[in-house]
Amino acid sequence: MANYLEVNSGKFPERTAVQVGFSVIHTYASLDEKARRLGAFLQKKKGLEAGDRIALLLPNSYEYIELLCGIWYAGMVAVPINHKLTVSEVQYILSDSGARVVFTNQTDVADLLEDVETLSSAVPHWELQDALERHCYRDSRDPAWIFYTSGTTGKPKGATLTHLNLASMASGYLIGIEPVSESHKLIHFAPMSHGSGLYLVPFLMAGGANLIPDPVKFTPENFVATVNAYERISMFLAPTMVRRVLDYLAANNQPLTVENIATITYGGGPMYAKDLNEALDVFGYRLVQIYGQGESPMTITYLSREQHRALKEKITKIDEESTPLLPVGHPHPQLEVAIRGEQSSFLPTGQDGEVCVRGDTVMQGYWGKEEASRNALADGWLHTGDVGHLDENGFLYLTDRLKDVIISGGTNIYPREVEEILLKFTGVREVSVVGRRDADWGEVVVAFVVASREVSEGDLDRFCLENMARFKRPKEYVFMDDLPKNAYGKILKTELRKLL
Ligand code: AMP
Repeated sequence: MANYLEVNSGKFPERTAVQVGFSVIHTYASLDEKARRLGAFLQKKKGLEAGDRIALLLPNSYEYIELLCGIWYAGMVAVPINHKLTVSEVQYILSDSGARVVFTNQTDVADLLEDVETLSSAVPHWELQDALERHCYRDSRDPAWIFYTSGTTGKPKGATLTHLNLASMASGYLIGIEPVSESHKLIHFAPMSHGSGLYLVPFLMAGGANLIPDPVKFTPENFVATVNAYERISMFLAPTMVRRVLDYLAANNQPLTVENIATITYGGGPMYAKDLNEALDVFGYRLVQIYGQGESPMTITYLSREQHRALKEKITKIDEESTPLLPVGHPHPQLEVAIRGEQSSFLPTGQDGEVCVRGDTVMQGYWGKEEASRNALADGWLHTGDVGHLDENGFLYLTDRLKDVIISGGTNIYPREVEEILLKFTGVREVSVVGRRDADWGEVVVAFVVASREVSEGDLDRFCLENMARFKRPKEYVFMDDLPKNAYGKILKTELRKLL
């Protein structure tokens, strides 16, 4: 990772690497310089060594990028932590990763952290007098980033990502999703500890700019202002962020200069057909969907702009006809996707099973968790825990998370399918379907609904009877003002199950 920046700083020293709003913070040369100084600080002043883990508990900021690069120049391993996590969650990740140092500006949190040195992200100048002559050599199979999964299904686990994993991921982006060159800006709206941080790798690799919006907070208003202000921008958004922007645009008559957008990459959770239809109407063919997970970061399949164009007609019909499950695209060419069934069999086209992945993007394992790593990487394939199937043209369809499938009366019900249908009912803004234990049926279907107008249980039940098999119908509806979401905007089905 350090080598890319070092080479680029020689190739185009004056090019913008990092900006906050319109202010240029770093050219490629100055970012390289800063990384050398931070690397020397970690090695010499802090006495840390190659392979040591350095945690980042910070909101999106230019210091985040400086520190990531400094950590890599020093041959150390970055442990990005979402700064919105609770102290006990942070403590868990720090001790699980064995981090030696954590950079944070949250003094109230820092005071509560034990066994780890806390440092401010603004390292004082007098600590940065030395600079590394060159970066510390690392093998491509050495860890670069421990990526903590969002923990929607249990305690977070640290997917150990090597330099090769990140390089392969970044090439996948540049070859498949979009090329990047000078003046192409990556807007960091999603957290750098997760989605957005991964995207900065291809941008630094290919010589684009990282733009931290000013103000930094993602709101639909800020999204509109940012899109209108800068040309040639790309960004990653979670589907729930796209939904918020669409609601805002529908309610406020605001002009949006969509031509400024090169690409909106979305993924990390299901994008419902109804939402995608609206998003395509607003943004045109500037959308690319990605399917990935921390264990194969950003990169399993992608659905290109052209494929969105081909799907549009199918999606437009959703109101009249059945709800199609939309594909999440084709596998990136540097990896293989297979659908596996019981006893590790390989399932034929069209059949649902566990999505498995093999290739250079697949993590080394979970940090410090041998058994979980063996299970996840059994016989050389990453077992994603997602259920899906491939069609005859190689498109992958994700049916659901294995752990979210509801088994009622011995039959599998995929919540995603029920959610897609309920979302078509006018007045249902958001919905999440989970199973509740039941003595007679094993589990029964319960729908949590956020409504934008008065909606009755009877109306929803009648709608379901017309649109889905009887046994898939929710037996109960719970109306809520908001669905519980984690810091990455993912709906927390674990919380919903707890409520039941
Ligand atoms: P994380 O490791 O926290 O990024 O979560 C990864 C999980 O999010 C995957 O295993 C999928 O269950 C889900 N996911 C990611 N991308 C998509 C997508 N495009 N559509 C549906 N689910 C997705």
